[in-house]
Amino acid sequence: MLTLTRRDALALLLAAPAAVRSLPAQSADSIALFDGTSLRGWRARGDAAAFRTNGGQLCAQGSNSRLFYAGPSGDADFKNFELNAEISLQPGAESALCFHTADRSSAAPAPGFEVLLANDARGPNGFIQRRKTGSLQGVRHVWKQFIANNEWFTLNILVRQKQVQIRLNGMLVVDYIEPADAFSANPDFECRIGHGTIAIEALSPQSVALFRNLRVHRLPDSIPQLSDENPQVDEVYRDIIRLGSANIPVVDYHAHLKGGLTLEQALNNSRRVGIGYGIAINCGLSFPVHSDASILAYLQSMKGQPCYVAMQAEGREWQTLVSPEAVARFDYVFTDAMTFTDDHGKRMRIWIPEEIGVITDSQAFMEMYVKRIESVMREPIDIYANATYLPDQIVAHYDELWTPQRMRRVIDATLHHNVAIEINNRRRIPSRTFIQMAKAAGCTFSFGTNNAEAELGRLEYPIQMTKECGLVWEEIFVPKPDGQKPIQIRKKHASLA
Ligand SMILES: [Zn+2]
Repeated sequence: MLTLTRRDALALLLAAPAAVRSLPAQSADSIALFDGTSLRGWRARGDAAAFRTNGGQLCAQGSNSRLFYAGPSGDADFKNFELNAEISLQPGAESALCFHTADRSSAAPAPGFEVLLANDARGPNGFIQRRKTGSLQGVRHVWKQFIANNEWFTLNILVRQKQVQIRLNGMLVVDYIEPADAFSANPDFECRIGHGTIAIEALSPQSVALFRNLRVHRLPDSIPQLSDENPQVDEVYRDIIRLGSANIPVVDYHAHLKGGLTLEQALNNSRRVGIGYGIAINCGLSFPVHSDASILAYLQSMKGQPCYVAMQAEGREWQTLVSPEAVARFDYVFTDAMTFTDDHGKRMRIWIPEEIGVITDSQAFMEMYVKRIESVMREPIDIYANATYLPDQIVAHYDELWTPQRMRRVIDATLHHNVAIEINNRRRIPSRTFIQMAKAAGCTFSFGTNNAEAELGRLEYPIQMTKECGLVWEEIFVPKPDGQKPIQIRKKHASLA
């Protein structure tokens, strides 16, 4: 089977620019790993019954076993390569496709990497797998579920020297370059680029993963990396990987395409630093997106992108401008309590000093502000952004003005309405005291930057607070599935009333 199909040839051409095109003879080494009817060329470790073939498919279902591709001569080995596979996962399935690995009888960790296959997997003791299909486990994690259960999708893994790219249905979700001082956090795999074979993992008898059309194209040893970037490993780099490996979604849920930042730049940044993004559009009165038609047009423009797409609700009248059905098409909705009308009927945006004027009585301002926050929490939102923000005029007194009673009222309001609290990177709010009190009360948290410029940072403050306050994955926000979003649930309540 040394012939290139048209699709394979195209994929190869797209993935590898000049170098491969000039070396057609060497790149035409295409191998079908699975003959469609038998496990010839494969070797199982663990429960051999965990792997079987049926109707052109290879099925992985069984506990803690691996199936290694050995090839016709038993010593299959790949360094630079492109792998294509069609995969379908049944509900709850968790499996993996491994590369640069070897059938080693000694205990873990195994050589190489595993690419996670998990759409909505769960584990014992209430564990919910937050990492999703496409994750390069232990170094780069995918947090958004892009793949539906029982749906055939293509997984593409491209390895060129120290660079690994992973695509789902052609969408680039991981672009990892191994640094000189590589850091990983995967107890089961060494996560070092080298060479080795391909393996399929079965994790539990309840998990059913199906594979077909498994093909590998060997790429020349001399093929260059796509990027010559040399990533720098520092403590934030390591923390992003540590938190991700602890099942904590390292997602910036409050990223804006502002300050000239393009979507492509944002996605490049996401892949480079290993942080997922929720790209948020401001939606409200006198904003470009302010109606169902403009929402749908915006969502169309973001279709098929490897990121969450979020709505930032602006002003208190946003619900009168757009329908719940249109809003529910966003992954999630957030708002802040920074635009409101005060007790004297004055509409103010509290980050603009001129709109507030002089705050003569900061205690009275705080009482009014806490009331406004409580009221905003009644809106059908997922996240309270810029939580506890104070205007410049009084921010120096943050710790005195945010008394325990006032913090308690805000925390109670978020809890009552099941709204996550944003830990904001740009403003470094809320304070650690607030986060600790909210954690003790049972709140959930999201990470967000709310960038005004093109630079997005690396969630340094949320990461610091997660460590210092001991936040765990159960306390970190993830968007609700369709049918369970606040905008949908509140609507149901309203129609029952
Ligand atoms: Zn914002």
